[in-house]
Amino acid sequence: MKKIEHIGIAVKNINKSNELFANLFGEPHYKMEEVESEGVKTSFFKVGENKIELLEATKNDSPIAKFINKKGEGIHHIAFDVDDINSEIKRLVDCGFVILNENPKPGADNKIVAFLHPKSTNGVLIELCQERIIDK
Ligand code: ZN
Repeated sequence: MKKIEHIGIAVKNINKSNELFANLFGEPHYKMEEVESEGVKTSFFKVGENKIELLEATKNDSPIAKFINKKGEGIHHIAFDVDDINSEIKRLVDCGFVILNENPKPGADNKIVAFLHPKSTNGVLIELCQERIIDK
């Protein structure tokens, strides 16, 4: 793993939270993106070299909706940048971690992503993300 790519925060109302976090950071979000397969709307902020992702559920049964029902709004996951997501998944499985999706899937912000089950990581949902290579 290279560095923290972003921190994900689950929110109930992304438009209200966009205002709140814009005030907090002194800069508006730079993009919004819906990931339909995950039932989530995301928005991204840059804070210096770091990124914060806000996530709002678009379906009642999406993982973000379930998270908010159980725990309320708050930090949802920490995402780490990796060069080769498949070899990293294999390494982590060999170490005994539980991967929620061993086949990486498309995520927001032009990434392919995989999640580690929080039960195997002291309650912290970990996202691995690799930049998607775009054919030009
Ligand atoms: Zn994320």
